[in-house]
Amino acid sequence: MRRRVVVVGLGDTGMLTAIGLARHADVLGVSVKPGLLSGQELGMRLTRPDEWARNYWIEFGRLRGLDRVQRAHGEVIGVDLAARTVTIHTADGLTRTEPFDALVIATGVTNGFWRRPTVQSAGEIDTAIAAAHARLADAASVAVIGGGAAAVNSAGNIARRWPDKRVDLYFPRDQALRSHHPRVWRTVSRRLESLGVAIHSGHRAELPHGVAPDLLDAGTVHWATGQPDIHADAVLWAVGQARPNTDWLPTELLDDGGFVRVGPDFRVPGQPGVFAIGDVAATDPLRSSARNRGDKLLVRNVRAELTGGRMRQFRPRPHRWGSVLGPQPDGLQVFMPTGHSFRMPAWSLTPIIQRTIYRGVRPPR
Ligand SMILES: Cc1cc2nc3c(=O)[nH]c(=O)nc-3n(C[C@H](O)[C@H](O)[C@H](O)COP(=O)(O)OP(=O)(O)OC[C@H]3O[C@@H](n4cnc5c(N)ncnc54)[C@H](O)[C@@H]3O)c2cc1C
Repeated sequence: MRRRVVVVGLGDTGMLTAIGLARHADVLGVSVKPGLLSGQELGMRLTRPDEWARNYWIEFGRLRGLDRVQRAHGEVIGVDLAARTVTIHTADGLTRTEPFDALVIATGVTNGFWRRPTVQSAGEIDTAIAAAHARLADAASVAVIGGGAAAVNSAGNIARRWPDKRVDLYFPRDQALRSHHPRVWRTVSRRLESLGVAIHSGHRAELPHGVAPDLLDAGTVHWATGQPDIHADAVLWAVGQARPNTDWLPTELLDDGGFVRVGPDFRVPGQPGVFAIGDVAATDPLRSSARNRGDKLLVRNVRAELTGGRMRQFRPRPHRWGSVLGPQPDGLQVFMPTGHSFRMPAWSLTPIIQRTIYRGVRPPR
């Protein structure tokens, strides 16, 4: 008998997990968005939205791998672990309950205006993406606040797309990209300088009311580190205050930060058949299961759980790795955990993403 798996959240990892499981189980994927709206490549999304959408904003009906996956557009608002059901508030205003034999929690994190767990239609998503692009296009000066990959990626892409704008990158320590190998910042900072980004280390921004504004408005930034205030036509806050999307889960499943506790096999301790993956899963300090293709291991382990096979274990890397500036005219520079990099040619990226990773994408209608 085929078993039923419910995947909550069809972002980067939930979508890949659902595709991988579809041949082995009846899969229901629940998503607040009507398509894959990836959290990756913020700078490209802001500066080249049409090009970005080709690989990172794809309505689910276009993803061939999801053809066998039943989908629900809506928000999961609760789980009954004893009855093994989830409750969904659907986009058309209904509430329904769905049973599962195995549950995959892949609800990601909330981070800035670009990653929010709100129910949206395709039209609303298109409008929001276009509005952020227009906002930046109109700004003569842009201040990017933050020292992680999203901030660095955005600053580099904005400077390249609009060489006439003033682009400033501010971060609190002496270096940015502190979760990467130190070689990565040495390489990337040279690239930013060549693109004209003004780099300001040692600037810790005061967060209004303790939280980063999730707008892309003109504004003045005050510094807890004592420097004079600055003003920019657009201030992009990318300070990494990621909050896990776990309000719908019982607190006994969560760690102190609200992330889902998991073992190295992605199982939630003490909850048979319940797994978590991606940015929401407390796999390791960097919560790196998404970029390390944990979805493949999770598919094996869900199958093992349902059929009695052997569980595999996730081995996290000590440093963040992957691309930082994202696709550029000269290709994609990918940094390894050692800080060394290799480059993938620009022409190869869409075929790799669409055919190899997503397993087939239909053209837009
Ligand atoms: C193949 C691949 C390559 C990568 N390469 C890189 C790289 O080079 N560099 C790098 O920095 N990172 C890379 N990453 C990682 C990436 O930055 C993030 O870690 C990844 O986007 C997180 O995916 P996620 O599925 O956990 O979250 P998300 O993609 O955010 O998906 C979560 C989804 O769940 C939805 N949701 C939330 N709550 C609910 C609810 N209650 N009900 C229903 N839906 C809900 C959210 O709105 C969202 O749509 C890569 C990831 C992948 C998969």
